Amino acid sequence: MLAQLSFDQVAELTGAKPLGKKFDFLITQISIDSRQVIHPEQTLFVALRGAKADGATFIAQLIEEGIQAFLVHPDLEIPKEWAEKAAFFPVNDTREALQKLAAFQRSQFSKPLVGITGSNGKTIIKEWLGQVLSQSYAVAKSPKSYNSQVGVPLSIFGIQPYHQVAILEAGISRVGEMDALKGMIQPNLGIFTNIGSAHEEGFSSQEEKILEKLKLFEETQLLIYCRDHSNLSTILETQISEEKRISWSLAPGADFSVSYKNQEGKTRIILLKNDLSTFTFLVPFSDKASLENVTHVIVAALVLGQELQAIQEGLEHLKPVDMRLTLKPGVNDSLIIDDTYNNDLAGLRVALEFMSQQRPKKSKILILSDLLQQGTPEKVYAEVAELIDSYHLDQILGVGKEVVRLQNFFPDKSKVFDNTEELLKELDPEQFQNDLILITGARSFAFERVVNRLQQRIHGTTLEINLNALTHNFNFYKRQLRPGTKVMVMVKAFAYGGGAAEIANHIQTMGADYLAVAFSDEGVALRKQGIRLPIMVLNPVEESFDLIREYALEPVVFSLDFFKKIGQYAQNHQTQLSIHLDLDTGMHRLGFEAKHISALKPLLKEFPELRIASFYTHLVGADEEIHHDFSISQLNLFQEMKSQIEAELDYKPLVHALNSAGIVRFPDYQMDMVRLGIGLYGVEVTGKFDSSLRPVSTLKTTISQIKDLPPGATVGYSRKGVLPNGGKIGTLAIGYADGYDRRFSQGKGYVLIHGKKAPVIGNVCMDMTMVDLSEIPEVREGDEAIIYGEQISLKELADRIGTIPYELLTNISTRVKRVYYLD
Ligand SMILES: *Cc1c(COP(=O)(O)O)cnc(C)c1O
Repeated sequence: MLAQLSFDQVAELTGAKPLGKKFDFLITQISIDSRQVIHPEQTLFVALRGAKADGATFIAQLIEEGIQAFLVHPDLEIPKEWAEKAAFFPVNDTREALQKLAAFQRSQFSKPLVGITGSNGKTIIKEWLGQVLSQSYAVAKSPKSYNSQVGVPLSIFGIQPYHQVAILEAGISRVGEMDALKGMIQPNLGIFTNIGSAHEEGFSSQEEKILEKLKLFEETQLLIYCRDHSNLSTILETQISEEKRISWSLAPGADFSVSYKNQEGKTRIILLKNDLSTFTFLVPFSDKASLENVTHVIVAALVLGQELQAIQEGLEHLKPVDMRLTLKPGVNDSLIIDDTYNNDLAGLRVALEFMSQQRPKKSKILILSDLLQQGTPEKVYAEVAELIDSYHLDQILGVGKEVVRLQNFFPDKSKVFDNTEELLKELDPEQFQNDLILITGARSFAFERVVNRLQQRIHGTTLEINLNALTHNFNFYKRQLRPGTKVMVMVKAFAYGGGAAEIANHIQTMGADYLAVAFSDEGVALRKQGIRLPIMVLNPVEESFDLIREYALEPVVFSLDFFKKIGQYAQNHQTQLSIHLDLDTGMHRLGFEAKHISALKPLLKEFPELRIASFYTHLVGADEEIHHDFSISQLNLFQEMKSQIEAELDYKPLVHALNSAGIVRFPDYQMDMVRLGIGLYGVEVTGKFDSSLRPVSTLKTTISQIKDLPPGATVGYSRKGVLPNGGKIGTLAIGYADGYDRRFSQGKGYVLIHGKKAPVIGNVCMDMTMVDLSEIPEVREGDEAIIYGEQISLKELADRIGTIPYELLTNISTRVKRVYYLD
């Protein structure tokens, strides 16, 4: 942090009237996450209230850990024992107060600050500009894609006095959000990347979106933009005065006229400035998107006055950015966090945080390279030492000349190596067993090789799960709910194919309230993997009562007979069990009907060992408008039935009815809780909010072999694929045994290769599928094929073969490896 804060300063900056015990130390850290506190005695904890849990719930524990300063909401009750130990700054909105503190910190930074916004490329430009500038300066930049209302303040707190330039990105999703970001970022130099044409929920038009984003640059001295995006530049040029604008274009007339010359996969970029000076650089790629991004980077570096030689050296080492932090299955039940693209402290912090959110494993191991950043290594490594200490790592394997400095801070069993080769010589996969291993290193250390050694062999097909998209979708549904409405997340059927343990773990950290599985075994597996949320079991059987008791699962009870059985069991074992009552209002699958209620009443008295945790019903047609009246009649019948049962109890069970579709269609029937399923996984079945959800899973495979076939050749079983004119085909490493539906045979399905469609040819086989590559001349063996993901929606695929997205998702075989990432 740039400026340390006294008690009085915190009060003044936030406008709070402090309560509790005054302190006389200086605040050096601001934290919003109870697990991220490093120096409790110098930390101000900001209790945010969001879709996630309320930060205030951690206060007691944090006081215990030694935190003595809290920014809280005014309605928080502060007991005497807290007031004796800590200071409380009540403010109407803690997020806004956090932003004020960030704005103050920003005002303490007198060096150049670059602010980036736009629809695409923000994060890549930030990363690349950071890499190029760090040839000459100590650079601070936002970690990963921290660009939101909370991400930006956290990025600003990461700026240190020794930094010489800072780069921050700003992302917004609705009108009105930029004001707060602008106040904090106050960029000296701006980059407006481009503007997407896609309709976004929070904006009524593209123009509105541009105007909102432009607010960031109202007081910026200089703004870089590409004139070739005419929709953007027309508006920009009416809003930003000429002396502030720096344009570049592939056409003449801009401040920088740019041309690209392709040279064997590399590209020579020539910039002609309007004073007729020219600059030439060579970059290691040739695709259009990368060239646009890197041109922004070059213009920014030139405007900042960096030496040409240093810019060129920085550009040579650029690689297409993979910002993803990926969770992969490792050897011997270990779990690997792959962060092999990371080069700074801020990224390390994010990766360690991600690590701390994973399920508990035997030990936590960090494989770490030197950090490539200029500036004072003492300071940087002192911070790394603090991180190592506070995240309770068990073992560290360090690689490089600089990490040696840290040796004294390493836990026992740690080791350092001069280079990656030395590490690989000693790295025996058998030494790991059920561990959590974070592999994080700068590009030049090529830690992919370490990941390769320790990850489980992944056969050609993988299902990639985007955890940020999952968070996005969870928050979308949270926004549809009244505050206080609980969310039960359906993780039945392996979490709709996504992998129950990782998904349950992720939503547990996001603040879901309940989980539901189909069978007791699924619940047991979750418990064994460290999931602590209450778990409802939809379809329990008598044989699993022991497991239910032992693993604290909560069965659904759906008949009088079953109620008696489980009641008897609880009595015999003198134990209390939580159960859920399924009320059948029209599904006619499982559940009590209205006519059973009179017989149920005496049972409630007879078996007080059974505690009714909730009542629920399930809508049969919440996704379709034509069933509207039926749904309403179900909901009304449900409320009547549950009231009759409730009257017999001296406590109030939770009441819930809505599934994903119900949440968007029947907001008046949220009751105490909703049951979120398919929507979390990125499919909005009512079609009303399609563009508001992000696809979560991408199913990918690879091309095992390519063949050129003569005219008249046939492909696959029963000779169903016919090539009258011959052509090129590819064999994919996926078949119906992996869950690629056989109904996709003979052109019904297609995959995407290099962004182009390759239709299925012939019949899908058990483990392989052949596709027509005639339209994709550049294809090679080993290339990737996308079965579904961002560019192929599950709904479209499901329609093609007359099924529903649910079936496609849950059919993916468990032999397909699941890989999780944060983008
Ligand atoms: C599966 C299921 C849900 C979730 O339904 P979605 O349509 O996936 O949201 C909710 N309630 C019950 C009882 C379920 O079985």
